[in-house]
Amino acid sequence: MKGIMKGMGVTFKAMTQKKVTHMYPDVPLQMPDRFRGIQYFDPEKCIVCNQCARICPTDCITLTGKANPDPEKKGKVIDTYDINFEICILCDLCTEVCPTEAIVMTNNFELSAYSRDDLFKNMAWLSENDQFIRKENNSALPKGGAKST
Ligand code: SF4
Ligand code: SF4
Repeated sequence: MKGIMKGMGVTFKAMTQKKVTHMYPDVPLQMPDRFRGIQYFDPEKCIVCNQCARICPTDCITLTGKANPDPEKKGKVIDTYDINFEICILCDLCTEVCPTEAIVMTNNFELSAYSRDDLFKNMAWLSENDQFIRKENNSALPKGGAKST
């Protein structure tokens, strides 16, 4: 009898405690502010300096630039920008060195796919990954656009 009472005590105590389970994926998980998730890329801000690709420890960034089509402006504009998330370790180094915040980390971690090919993300995909940009990178948000956490 004492054992049953003790067991019921544990059960009732657990019933009144705060729930630790999440309704994921129906309710998105709130990640910490400093979480390093999949990058957002803004082609308008990129000056094709190549620093992100040079510092990347896994060589997973591939980019190409072209001459600025506006004859009044000097320098290059970005033409292609790809990240291979098969080997990206989300180390944050590319975003740390970027002088214009063209590439920033987000809190988005959802990368699961059925095919390895789907882990190869191009410029269009990265520039649409504008949800959950980290608070500290609010200046990177497109005007009137994305939601940050
Ligand atoms: S997070 Fe790290 S591994 Fe991934 S692209 Fe940037 S520098 Fe490379
Ligand atoms: S470091 Fe920034 S500006 Fe330079 S190429 Fe990479 S994304 Fe573009």
